[in-house]
Amino acid sequence: MSSKKNDKNKKSNITLIITIIAILVLTIVGILFYMNYNKKDKNKDFAYTELLTSINDGTVEKIEMTEGSDTAKIKLVNEEKEKRVLIPSVDSFIDLVQEKVNSGSNIQLIQKQRNIFVMILRTLFSFLPTIILVVLVLMIFKMQGLGEKGKVYDSETQKTKIKFDDVAGLDEEKQEMIEIVDFLKHPKKFTEMGAKVPRGVLLCGNPGTGKTLIAKAIAGEANVPFISMSGSEFIEMFAGLGASRVRKLFEKARKVSPCIVFIDEIDAIGSRRTSSSGAETENNQTLNQLLVEMDGFDTEENIIVLAATNRPEMLDKALLRPGRFDRQITVGLPDLNGREAILKIHAKGKKFAQDVSLRNIAEDTAGFTGAELANILNEAAIIATIRERESITNKDIEDALKKVTVGLEKHNRVISEKDKKRTAVHEAGHAIVSYFLQTQKDIKEISIIPRGMAGGYTMYKTNEDKAYISKTEMEEKLIALMGGRAAEKLALKDISTGASNDLEVANEIAKNMVTLYGMSDSIGPIHVNLEKDPYQLQLLGDKYADVIGNEIKALVNDADFKAQTILANHMDALEVISNELLAKEVITSERFEELMENVK
Ligand code: ADP
Ligand code: ZN
Repeated sequence: MSSKKNDKNKKSNITLIITIIAILVLTIVGILFYMNYNKKDKNKDFAYTELLTSINDGTVEKIEMTEGSDTAKIKLVNEEKEKRVLIPSVDSFIDLVQEKVNSGSNIQLIQKQRNIFVMILRTLFSFLPTIILVVLVLMIFKMQGLGEKGKVYDSETQKTKIKFDDVAGLDEEKQEMIEIVDFLKHPKKFTEMGAKVPRGVLLCGNPGTGKTLIAKAIAGEANVPFISMSGSEFIEMFAGLGASRVRKLFEKARKVSPCIVFIDEIDAIGSRRTSSSGAETENNQTLNQLLVEMDGFDTEENIIVLAATNRPEMLDKALLRPGRFDRQITVGLPDLNGREAILKIHAKGKKFAQDVSLRNIAEDTAGFTGAELANILNEAAIIATIRERESITNKDIEDALKKVTVGLEKHNRVISEKDKKRTAVHEAGHAIVSYFLQTQKDIKEISIIPRGMAGGYTMYKTNEDKAYISKTEMEEKLIALMGGRAAEKLALKDISTGASNDLEVANEIAKNMVTLYGMSDSIGPIHVNLEKDPYQLQLLGDKYADVIGNEIKALVNDADFKAQTILANHMDALEVISNELLAKEVITSERFEELMENVK
């Protein structure tokens, strides 16, 4: 009897112990799971500067980089997903890691293949069992569908402390944003007046020009929550998930409104809708949901959606309609003063030696984005630390610049002095020739800061819309277009590939003058639209092709000759304007008028 009772006791004891162990294991696994899972996978992309800080902090577990590629795969100690980071130059990055290794840091650099390098944290191995366990458990949970995927990519709500003062330059852009801040702060004032308030603003510009920063600054200035998500995070393999994420994002926004919703890389979901199947249909659903949400705002909801893209032309036109993203703000590359201001902001909290001049750095970095400038100062600080200096010297900055530049040279981004000179002469040519032509619009801005494919640009003031363009105006437009090339020819005694776009536009105009508008005397009032009707020429007779060709040639040649004549008579102006461009990079309309008055 007693033995039986003992048996029973033993049995229940064992059950108890097993239960306790099971609970303990589950709790530990649960905690580990929670810890790992709750680490938000903020952005898929990781900034280079963040990477450098993380290496210093020892939170980078592994980096894999391939020579010749500018992105590296990185894995952080506490995060499950790999991220991508843009590295200015693999070589200089490896040098940097090597320096760390040499200085007795806890990291190891391994050459995996001839051109693939891996940096790992040495302490990784002690964590390995835990990591394997956690990964296993995560995999099981995922297979059972318990881990809700949406959570990992959840949007982020933040209160940001960033203010307009933290955004350097971009004065015009900030001016436009002040209105939005005012609305978020005093929505009543606007609605009582019956004013329509912007719902969506599209920020267009290259990566690193400060689009996210300016969006955060709006939220910071208005003291409202900043909810952000990246377009690429909406893209899902499982149908409907992208759309449901959009819904959740706006549900959240409605709860905390007034607020700013920021959608980075909107082109990932907002490219033109197509009718094909698979991933694209999914994309369409996501985009449709976004449109539905934006149209569904009522006046009580003070939500402003900001979206960033560097390819506005790719976006679905429906996104740009009134009530949606009907405002576009272009965030351009900073000019000389802008770069100096950005450098000043990022110089805060760093110690510099006497010989450092931020103005000089700004002068050497035409074409750099804000992110790249911040990067240079950060690199310089790292170099100075490795060299055990008291403060960052000019030499450290020069070396940092070299490191960053070597990487950029592959992207054809760094502009040599010679190219700058050529661009200055070219743009000055356009501006001066236009100045002496009656029908051409006034100059708004001349710049040798690259934009898109162009090395520089001459911007004209917009005139009132006109229904008709006269023949004289078209002829003079041709002359202005030839001005860039003519200036290169006269001042540099050589021409370059830089004028190819001008020629394309000029030829197109000349062709239209001859074939569409009957503006050629020797051909007369004939209208040939070859795009509409390729056989029309045959009706008119073969010799027309030759005559049309000759007429186009004559118009462009004549314009070229006139442009050269104007410039030959104003070589002093060409010198003054191109020199000023070289020194200042940008000339405004007032300054242009002033300079031209002086040389006349
Ligand atoms: P984008 O969103 O256009 O890709 P970000 O706003 O993410 O660019 O800019 C990246 C970083 O570059 C910012 O966090 C900031 O450190 C720096 N930066 C860019 N533009 C500026 C600027 N105008 N003033 C100050 N810092 C800037
Ligand atoms: Zn040109």
